[in-house]
Amino acid sequence: MTRTLLLKNATRLATFDDTGSEFEDAGLFARDGVIEVVGSSAMLPAGADQVIDASGHLILPGLINTHHHLYQTLTRALAPDADLFTWLKTLYPIWARLTAEGVYLSSKTGLAELLLSGCTTSSDHLYLFPNDACLDAQIEAAREMGIRFHAARGSMSLGQSAGGLPPDAVTEDEDTILADCERVIGQYHERQRFAMLRIVLAPCSPFSVTPQLMCETAALARREGVRLHTHLAETLEEEQFCLERFGQRPVAYAESLGWSGPDVWHAHCVHLNPGEIQRFGASRTGAAHCPTSNMRLASGIAPVPAMRAAGVPVGLGVDGSASNDGAQLLAEARLAMLLQRVAPVRYGATPPGGRGGFAGHAGACSARDALSLATRGGAAVLGRDDIGHLAPHMAADFIAIDLNRIEFAGAQHDSVAAAVFAQPVPPALVVVNGKVVVRDYQLLTLDVSAHAEHHNRIAADMLSAW
Ligand SMILES: [Zn+2]
Repeated sequence: MTRTLLLKNATRLATFDDTGSEFEDAGLFARDGVIEVVGSSAMLPAGADQVIDASGHLILPGLINTHHHLYQTLTRALAPDADLFTWLKTLYPIWARLTAEGVYLSSKTGLAELLLSGCTTSSDHLYLFPNDACLDAQIEAAREMGIRFHAARGSMSLGQSAGGLPPDAVTEDEDTILADCERVIGQYHERQRFAMLRIVLAPCSPFSVTPQLMCETAALARREGVRLHTHLAETLEEEQFCLERFGQRPVAYAESLGWSGPDVWHAHCVHLNPGEIQRFGASRTGAAHCPTSNMRLASGIAPVPAMRAAGVPVGLGVDGSASNDGAQLLAEARLAMLLQRVAPVRYGATPPGGRGGFAGHAGACSARDALSLATRGGAAVLGRDDIGHLAPHMAADFIAIDLNRIEFAGAQHDSVAAAVFAQPVPPALVVVNGKVVVRDYQLLTLDVSAHAEHHNRIAADMLSAW
């Protein structure tokens, strides 16, 4: 049985399509989760099974999160003044107590936070599996929450005894990792357009996996036709680690292992030099920009305008949730916009090592650039042609922001810019795959208060031995 949805009377609708079309007094019509018509209200059919009056609201495509660690919602606000390696070494022993129940609960918490703030598609990078922790628990949570989800099966195999950063107790045997990667692809990966669940393979970082595992994971992903994801060029300490251990900068190291190309995206990409940016662009290797995390851990500022100019697909990631420690993509888009305005501009005049010395400028990242990173940029990074903008034959994933809120008083002349220039607010309505998941600011798929109480008990258990 088909199911139709009509959204009408929106004050403004920004499609983020190829030409950046925006409409006033507008809406869209969708059938079975797929958009058939977008435009002014006069162009739309008269009725549908479900009709939503969006008067006074701004409609945007659903936001897309390209990098996250949902389990870290159990350990927020710890090691508050540490850099990356200190922060990791503080948290690894606590994370060693993670269980399947913890994965399930923390995934629901993080996904609730994402949905309530307008994210309709998220990736997650789960890379440690102590006790009975498993990817299956996270996938179950995502299905129950109603979000479109890319589950990245992460891994760590290079423990301290072999020169890596994590304690051996949170690493896994490489045969076990590869066998589980193959299992979850077979069990869960959906290849068709409008897929709600896809699997990604994601060894954690240069300092926690071996080159052999990177190579074998890439070969497996390419045999199975799934995407590859890891952390890369996040900090200068990582760069130093790669130079000392592998004799190469992080990007050259990753490239030497087959980790570049249109099926690969890397989180952070803060410390890229101009030549590396050009190589990313030429190979269409993607980047997940995580501005809050990069500020929190004092990692640096990613050269986003230079990457985009070179043709690198760039999306946004909330990262964390122990290095953010929140998960709100509109806030992330706002920071992405503002951070570039104080960033050194790094084009041709960058010395080796990736540090530049020129002042940023106010036009480095516009409001629409920032929202584009959060929508169609994210879709490109995740390799999706069915989400990220609003047009016929695209998924009915969208959000509605109430323009009558006090935050938008005085900004009605450009409500799209106001979505990130004003303090970001939660959307009143969130629709994923043609289904309402958030209505009147309420998440329909979870009792948030009861859930938070349960989450806090599990988090306290993990911290009790700390
Ligand atoms: Zn991360």
